[in-house]
Amino acid sequence: MPPPRPRFAATQPPRPRFAARHLLVAVLAALLLYPPDLLPGPATTSAAPHPTRAAPHPTRAAPHPTQAESHRTQGAPQRDLPGSGAPTGRVAQAEKRMLAAVHRGPEAAIRWRRSRALGKPNHGRLLAGVELPAAGTLFVTVDPVTRASPNRAWRRYGTDRLLRVLLAVAEEHAAAHPGAARLVIGDLSRPHGGRFGPEYGGDGHRSHQNGLDADVYYPRRDGLERIPRRVGQIDRRLAQELVDRFVRAGAQYVFVGPRTGLRGPAKVVMTLANHDDHLHVRIRPGAGSGR
Ligand SMILES: [Zn+2]
Repeated sequence: MPPPRPRFAATQPPRPRFAARHLLVAVLAALLLYPPDLLPGPATTSAAPHPTRAAPHPTRAAPHPTQAESHRTQGAPQRDLPGSGAPTGRVAQAEKRMLAAVHRGPEAAIRWRRSRALGKPNHGRLLAGVELPAAGTLFVTVDPVTRASPNRAWRRYGTDRLLRVLLAVAEEHAAAHPGAARLVIGDLSRPHGGRFGPEYGGDGHRSHQNGLDADVYYPRRDGLERIPRRVGQIDRRLAQELVDRFVRAGAQYVFVGPRTGLRGPAKVVMTLANHDDHLHVRIRPGAGSGR
């Protein structure tokens, strides 16, 4: 297996705020001076605009590193790459700008360390777990009990490898759909793993005990970064793409709701009750990168 992708490496030093601000100003100035049509890249990148991205994102009231760039590209035709992990042309440009934002954003502050998943997802513990930030350039977290954002910190621990898979998929999703809602992530594991049953609120989880499981809410057709309340609110196309991306990222299992119509390889993608508003991804234990 190839080594973990270096984009979220622990060696990335946090940068001073003023430098980040200057960089953002420089990027915005460059965008104003060079509209996307003039940016280098193949001329054949136009495609139909994404149907869910016509309006500015309603939940992004706060300044967001990628917001300006998203708005910059929203009026222009965008290239959609359903099921493709190899961005080209304008998507590659968007990915470059987004990655620059990630390296200045909350993702850059993740305190990476090598974690160990002990035991089984249904009966296990997490050693040296890594905390997923409350929100980032690529994702938001939601508390499944209160349905509020962000999720509480003690519900956001996973192995380093799980976090890398989540961030890699979030990054692919954002690159393929600039301006779309960020990935909405729910529970991972507790700081040291162990039981995560109903005594911790809501229905609880039977698994989520050793840092290998994560819940990700399906993207909504209205673009809100919230838990969908009905299957009809789910953007089926984006949700299927997410399932496909987790499969390609090497997930051991992706559980989806029986009413979602989502599918994938029979040994990986399985329907499970109570998963009509989110998918549950489980990665394999081990030291690989999951790819
Ligand atoms: Zn779950």
